[in-house]
Amino acid sequence: MDLHNGKPFWPTLQQHKTLFPKLKSSISCDVLIIGGGIAGTIMARMLSDYQLKTVLLEKDEIGSGSTAANTGLLQFSNDEFLVDLIDSIGEEKAVYFYKLCLKALDELDKYHSYLPSPADFNRVDSLYYASSDRHAKKLKNEFEALQKHGFAADFLDQRAIESLYSFRAPCGIYTKNEVEVNPYKFAHALAAHSHDLGVDLYEHTEVLSHRFTDNELYFETEYGQVKAKHVIYATGYATQEFAKTKGALLERTYTIATEPIESFDGWHNRSLIWETNRPYYYLRTTADRRILIGGLDTSFNKEDMLETTSTKLLDKLHSMFPNIQTSIANEWSSVFASSKDGLPFIGQHPKYKGVYFMLGYGGNGTVYNMVAADILKDLILYNYHPAMMITSLKR
Ligand SMILES: Cc1cc2nc3c(=O)[nH]c(=O)nc-3n(C[C@H](O)[C@H](O)[C@H](O)COP(=O)(O)OP(=O)(O)OC[C@H]3O[C@@H](n4cnc5c(N)ncnc54)[C@H](O)[C@@H]3O)c2cc1C
Repeated sequence: MDLHNGKPFWPTLQQHKTLFPKLKSSISCDVLIIGGGIAGTIMARMLSDYQLKTVLLEKDEIGSGSTAANTGLLQFSNDEFLVDLIDSIGEEKAVYFYKLCLKALDELDKYHSYLPSPADFNRVDSLYYASSDRHAKKLKNEFEALQKHGFAADFLDQRAIESLYSFRAPCGIYTKNEVEVNPYKFAHALAAHSHDLGVDLYEHTEVLSHRFTDNELYFETEYGQVKAKHVIYATGYATQEFAKTKGALLERTYTIATEPIESFDGWHNRSLIWETNRPYYYLRTTADRRILIGGLDTSFNKEDMLETTSTKLLDKLHSMFPNIQTSIANEWSSVFASSKDGLPFIGQHPKYKGVYFMLGYGGNGTVYNMVAADILKDLILYNYHPAMMITSLKR
């Protein structure tokens, strides 16, 4: 499955894409991570702090999967409203999960601060606006739930939004201290740092088959076998067989990056912006003064309409920001997967001991990956994490 089509923006900024050799001999390790996207590289960085011999195999290049297409808006709020999550899994679990996402932003910040090369990681504000009057009440309820449970947020009414932005919306939730990042650069930097800390990484090394015994797991690649005690599948949306059995929804989503812009007139603090419609439009700016806007998701089975959809995204941008006139520099369509309940799949395979999945399905995939790294590290070391039932593969 091609994870993206067109020309994702982030890889165009980077010169050296291959960092690590191909595996050419047989090796053994405590933990094998399959997949070198943002999930696998966060996991590698997490395990590098522990006495575990860790190996990561990537079939292509680090970050070349969905991570290259990822727009890098990292927020604690999920695609699933807190009020809806409370309805579906109960208040205690829902609030705990939201708190894990909030903590994940600080954990990612910490990892970023140790990196020898920065990845355009900034703490920024975010506006979550009501797409219609019909959604205003729901957003107000959401704000009250966030407040009740101690999440810092401000409520903006229509006038407040109009005074800060050049578009209108009935109301919005404004949060601070969220994150924007170049996820592709971040994955590369995390991979390089993990390597410095003792993780062995290999690129252009596909896991072709596996064999599990009671105590050991074996993986075949073109030139060598890997024997491991634990394996983490950080294989993203390509984990098709598994995704199908869990009824995950596969869609196609579209994104454009504009040419650099001089003035962000009508865009308060260059905040992240998203809305309550599903599928939603989402927007951010970049370190080199571009705008990324994404949305207009369709079923994966429908034809890829990259060109016409890109024009619609640009029209939407111009309608929200009439004072910003710009053109498209890059456009890409991508596979996007979400789960039915809006939660990621993180945990041990129901049948095979030592086999774990790290599937951050949903618009918050990168934040979920940080949550996942903590859960899986604890499952490997202690066989327990308090969130393991919330994200379990058995649900
Ligand atoms: C357009 C778009 C925008 C997004 N924006 C955001 C956002 O703003 N914020 C957010 O939090 N999330 C966002 N997401 C979600 C987020 O991108 C993904 O959750 C995340 O990037 C996926 O990372 P990953 O490492 O799980 O997958 P991938 O990046 O796809 O990595 C999986 C890797 O596994 C490798 N692999 C697969 N099979 C094998 C094998 N057999 N052997 C070896 N290697 C293998 C692949 O080559 C690939 O590199 C977005 C997603 C898309 C598509």
